[in-house]
Amino acid sequence: MADRYLHLTGTAPGRFLTRRLGLPQPAPLRRWTLETPHLDGPLLHLTAGVPTVTEVAETLSRAGLPVVSRSDRPAAIVLDATGVATAAGLGDVHAALHPVVRSLAPGGRIVVLGTVPSPDDHHQAAAQQALEGFVRSLGKEIGRGSTAQLVRIPGGASAHAAESTLRFLLSPRSAYVSGQVIELTSATPDQAADQAATPAPDPAAPLTGRTALVTGAARGIGAAVASVLARDGAQVIALDVPGAREELERTADRLGATALPLDITARDAADRIAAAAPDGLGILVHNAGITRDRRLANMPADRWASVIEVNLDSVLRTTDELLKAGAIPRGGRIVATASIAGIAGNTGQTNYAAGKAGIIGLVRSLGPRAAADHGVTVNAVAPGFIETKMTAAVPLFIREAGRRMNSLSQGGLPVDVAEAVAWFAQPGSTAVNGQVLRVCGQSLLGA
Ligand code: NAD
Repeated sequence: MADRYLHLTGTAPGRFLTRRLGLPQPAPLRRWTLETPHLDGPLLHLTAGVPTVTEVAETLSRAGLPVVSRSDRPAAIVLDATGVATAAGLGDVHAALHPVVRSLAPGGRIVVLGTVPSPDDHHQAAAQQALEGFVRSLGKEIGRGSTAQLVRIPGGASAHAAESTLRFLLSPRSAYVSGQVIELTSATPDQAADQAATPAPDPAAPLTGRTALVTGAARGIGAAVASVLARDGAQVIALDVPGAREELERTADRLGATALPLDITARDAADRIAAAAPDGLGILVHNAGITRDRRLANMPADRWASVIEVNLDSVLRTTDELLKAGAIPRGGRIVATASIAGIAGNTGQTNYAAGKAGIIGLVRSLGPRAAADHGVTVNAVAPGFIETKMTAAVPLFIREAGRRMNSLSQGGLPVDVAEAVAWFAQPGSTAVNGQVLRVCGQSLLGA
């Protein structure tokens, strides 16, 4: 569905008129393309306090941009604030960023590196938590299509574990992600051994040799996920309901994927998925989802039950069965799909929001255990307003509000969610576990 307002503000008369009326000014976002895989300009590396993680400079040098300590027009700024442990130390954050924030190129990136707030040192915890409020505010004020995030690296660890995360955040792939906090985990000893034994993946096709199954892949976000995973080298199995067989086969043919017409709520769904990936399922993406909106007072039990069954129960059941059967080998990745409705709630969506909040509960609880018991990570994307058939069905006024009520003043595209899924799926993303990443342009809802 075309965003006509974004189009209008891209013309000189439209920009003049909307400025005069004080209306939002969305900047066109630059997404990843083969021709423009990187941001256009250098990465400015700054420090506040004495860093508590090692190898930051080495890790940044592999993020795809020239790293500099001074620039008139940086495309990205990374501030290492891992050493900020007191309220006074926050002054160093201001001192580092205040003089340069205005010079950030349009569509630029600011990433603040922090560490995990300590349960034993309330001064360090206050200072590190302060970085969250700082970054979320910065995301709201920098404008011009730029974004700001906080990445927490466990104290004393190497920044190497953050490499895949920094490559994602410091690239056009994260165009619609802003105001997020990503907390990296320390690898378990088994995971560290697995990683040491795994050869470095080809950066152009990091998912080569992996089989990925995407549910709800006939159209919308699922089709984009299947496409991006295939682009990154995965052999994709695209699953959707038998009723969508034709659309599914068209999508699968386009991507060189295998079509699996199957209702994910079928009792034998996990068996059939495992049978479709006899050499193991490296990546499992739970994307299928439905809405059956009504206010609770008007909602019959079948509308409640069908949403919970598709959006949550089938995800829990197939995940459990596939893990138990050993169908997801070590190094595997499970990515589920939540929604900002599951964080903020939404009128008429008690069923949908309950199901999506349930996904968040699943990810947070299972992530650490799946890593320890199976060497598998479990994460979720929480999309905001994404331009798909699902949101095209939303009434005009609510749709327009959904598009504009975020720091980037526009809706996202399915590919924005797909890029986030592909980052979770990377072999280098072992330290990313139990996370829920909002892909919402820093929506005001639930923020
Ligand atoms: P969509 O309706 O365009 O596509 C969903 C796909 O899931 C369809 O192809 C459908 O046939 C399939 N599906 C539904 N029930 C199924 C079942 N039982 N078994 C197998 N496949 C099934 O929706 P979308 O906008 O692409 O959304 C994809 C996911 O993202 C959903 O989980 C949705 O809740 C979530 N999400 C979307 C938005 C948005 O703005 N579009 C926002 C937040 C979350």
